[in-house]
Amino acid sequence: MTHETPSTCPYCGVGCGVLIAHDGERITGVRGDPAHPANFGRLCSKGSTLHLTASPAVIQHARLLQPMQRLQRGQAPQARGWDEAADTIATQLATLVTEHGPDAVGLYVSGQLLTEDYYVFNKLAKGLLGTNNIDTNSRLCMSSAVAGYKQTLGADAPPACYDDFNHAATVFVTGANPAWAHPILFRRLEDARRANPAQKLVVVDPRRTETAQMADLHLALNPGSDVALHHGLLHLMIREGWIDEAWIAAHTTGFDALRERVRAWTPERTAATTGLAMADIETAARWFATGGPALSLYCQGLNQSSQGTANNATLVHLHLATGQIGKPGAGPFSLTGQPNAMGGREVGGLANLLSAHRDLANPAHRAEVAALWGVDEVPATPGKTAVDMFRAAADGQIKALWIVCTNPAHSLPDQAMVRAAMERAELVIVQDAFATTATGRLADWLLPATTWGEKDGTVTNSERRISRVRPAVPAPGESRHDWAIAVDIARRLEARLRPGRPSLFDYPTPESVWVEHRESTRGRDLDITGLSYARIERDGPQQWPLPEGAATGRARLYADGRFPTVDGRARFVDVEARELAEPVDTEYPHALNTGRLRDQWHGMSRTGTLGRLFGHQPEPTLDLPPQTMQDLTLAEGTLVEVRSRRGRLVLPARADAGLQRGHAHIAMHWGDEMVGGSDGPGRAQTGVNALTVPAYCPTSKQPELKHAAISLQPA
Ligand code: SF4
Repeated sequence: MTHETPSTCPYCGVGCGVLIAHDGERITGVRGDPAHPANFGRLCSKGSTLHLTASPAVIQHARLLQPMQRLQRGQAPQARGWDEAADTIATQLATLVTEHGPDAVGLYVSGQLLTEDYYVFNKLAKGLLGTNNIDTNSRLCMSSAVAGYKQTLGADAPPACYDDFNHAATVFVTGANPAWAHPILFRRLEDARRANPAQKLVVVDPRRTETAQMADLHLALNPGSDVALHHGLLHLMIREGWIDEAWIAAHTTGFDALRERVRAWTPERTAATTGLAMADIETAARWFATGGPALSLYCQGLNQSSQGTANNATLVHLHLATGQIGKPGAGPFSLTGQPNAMGGREVGGLANLLSAHRDLANPAHRAEVAALWGVDEVPATPGKTAVDMFRAAADGQIKALWIVCTNPAHSLPDQAMVRAAMERAELVIVQDAFATTATGRLADWLLPATTWGEKDGTVTNSERRISRVRPAVPAPGESRHDWAIAVDIARRLEARLRPGRPSLFDYPTPESVWVEHRESTRGRDLDITGLSYARIERDGPQQWPLPEGAATGRARLYADGRFPTVDGRARFVDVEARELAEPVDTEYPHALNTGRLRDQWHGMSRTGTLGRLFGHQPEPTLDLPPQTMQDLTLAEGTLVEVRSRRGRLVLPARADAGLQRGHAHIAMHWGDEMVGGSDGPGRAQTGVNALTVPAYCPTSKQPELKHAAISLQPA
């Protein structure tokens, strides 16, 4: 008999609800959940094929189904029982901690973990091992958005919601291609435009993407010139009297210094720096400031930058200067890349954060978390963020890497450094649902985890909405839930590191973990003390905050003009535009941009198992503007050697009229793992991160994955 279990799509941060059809043993189908407020029944190409990624053939071919130990690097791993694996790993970790201190261990986790998984790993690192060396692939995704919100608004909280699409007069999409990366939100945007043909869409992107093709105004700016554009727009808004002086005076600080700074960003200078026409800059400023509610949507184009925090903060400035926040259709709305990057931030799963949006640098916050966990203290030393964690392993400072649900040997910049780090580390533990990742090939231990259709817990999407992830079928093979693997190893570590003391990890179920997380949010900006698994079951997914006694969650934040800062005011930040970390020059004259494809997800460990998802693009390509193809006398498909200061790739060239002269684009999905599945085209490739730059934003520590200087030569 077929049943349907409601759950959530595991791919992007839109957080669509799905109904999983199954017979209790096998997943047989999937459809969009008509009752879920993120998608109302719709699914994109990735979500609608999820059931095929759970077929017996894929499970047999691609899944990691039992613990494995690689006794010699480069050799095939051997199967082990869970007891032996967990016990040996606990001994190895405890020995390293005793000999070298807790900071010899680094945990690198994932925005694809559930909130419950994330909570346990964060407590294991900071509460048990005594290191803040826990960071996540959200560092590559959202950390600039986090820092930008905190600098300007005082808290890491997207103030808008999906319904704002229906109320906006101007939608300002910058550094994002939702047509491909957030397809169901894009459908909602199309609906909103159909219902309100007067709505203006401005798209800021160096490439003419599918999203840009729908725009009323496409601003194809030069790479790295976002701060210049934002300052130039603010200059015009001030000059034309389009700012809301009364709102600024009542609700903000710091405007006078910024007003002085943007005085120099005349339309002429802004046009020269951004490469845009002055008339277009003026049109964008007018629509944003005078057209009615303005909603900005942004993602990796702003975030993956060596000035990512400034990109975010200066965009928020435009909303504060015009009072475009806290009302329907208005606000700076960061689109989350991964399905639970939000939940990870909520539990403090980054090297500089603590539970419930507390700051590691704040002694009072550390004391609150230590009291909640029942430990003497939470260490004060800042943890290593993603790139620095691997650099520290390459330098020999970090001796053990525990990598969970992510594939850094594909996704981090400067792959030569990352591979050297994993080779130098004395102990590499890889915990994953899939056996096919590049990172898994470099592991000493492989721990099999459950995945979509099997997992149980919660995730939070871009609009702060918490949904349940529910299991439809049992875990295959010996795989276990991520939180349960962490708890098992943590308890064995406790026996070695704090014998005789009560366990910190007395969690019989994921709900028991979540209840502890919920308590940590009491009185915080994301207070969810009014929420429970039972309430989600009864009322459906809910937005935070939802404190005890509240009838509903809050759709929009800051409607009262009060912000979670010391004085209750939002802040303008006096920041200046800076150069790219690696500008083009005569040796490396082309600007490389990276991005997603419509039908693939990250390193393709899941989407790469389905041949049909390669129909949109079957193989990696080097996309070049037609002028560059002509200049280099390249035909379609000619193999080109692409070089940066860090590595080289050989790829077939493809003409893309949406690219500007001097630019190039490579999709992020292909790496050197075999990505083909049971019916997919397998191939060996080295991915684009052989070329990318490890330089990062000094505040958010997010690397500049969106720009590298490259040279091109027919191979
Ligand atoms: Fe899944 Fe995102 Fe597609 Fe929704 S838009 S079905 S969450 S991949």
